[in-house]
Amino acid sequence: MAEPRNDNESSSKVPLHEQDPEKYSGSSDSSEDEIDGQNQEDLIRQMLRMKLHQGKSRTNEDLAKKKSGKVKNIITMAGAGISTSAGIPDFRSPETGLYNNLQKYDLPNPQAIFDIEYFEERPEPFFQLAKELYPGQFEPTPCHYFIKLLEQKGLLLRHYTQNIDTLERVANISGDKLVEAHGTFHSSHCIEPKCRKEYTQEWMKEQIMRDVIPTCKECNSVVKPDIVFFGEQLPDRFFTCLVDDFKICDLLIIMGTSLTVQPFANLVDRYIVKTLN
Ligand SMILES: [Zn+2]
Repeated sequence: MAEPRNDNESSSKVPLHEQDPEKYSGSSDSSEDEIDGQNQEDLIRQMLRMKLHQGKSRTNEDLAKKKSGKVKNIITMAGAGISTSAGIPDFRSPETGLYNNLQKYDLPNPQAIFDIEYFEERPEPFFQLAKELYPGQFEPTPCHYFIKLLEQKGLLLRHYTQNIDTLERVANISGDKLVEAHGTFHSSHCIEPKCRKEYTQEWMKEQIMRDVIPTCKECNSVVKPDIVFFGEQLPDRFFTCLVDDFKICDLLIIMGTSLTVQPFANLVDRYIVKTLN
């Protein structure tokens, strides 16, 4: 989320849901249905069929490998597009995009709401927004259950997500299979560097829902969900998993991201093309 846009997007990187939104976004009804085994199988078939039709020869080869059972280590990468059908606004979509709906917070600029320096001075706008969008009010989409199915089949090496909505965890994707590249609401920490006391999602939720600025019991500093703000480092886990994972990845599935947001954009160029060749 909340990272500066890099406009060097190439058409070959346009994700499935953006190429044909009606066909790919999934209806809100489907996200409310219980996804049974048959629906999951159908979903996989549909997604692979669509992937096959995207035209790249490597995709055909990948599918053939998948059918022959040679694919064993699948990496999935996901962005906001897999959660928009759950009702979570994409940060950059016109009209519904979050950055276009922040006037009420009286910010110096829209991105200030995720700027760590601004947050340290004035945390109220972030927590007001967090209350509106708090995880737990939304249901996972078929895409999330597709990733869970890959895990159940023993095929998921890792799921890299740019999303902070925790819908992967709601879909019961195991924590060790997840890399939440832009952080998560799953845990929170005191922002005072000498303290860094950890707090649970339940505790944070209670504070936010009561319209209280969460403060540390030890040092009285503000406590912030572990989502990555501007001016903050990505989680260590992102970098540690990255190197080993892409050495053994034999199929990469990219969903719901146009790969214009770092670090995913660079990731594909630097690691994945080389790895899959
Ligand atoms: Zn503290």
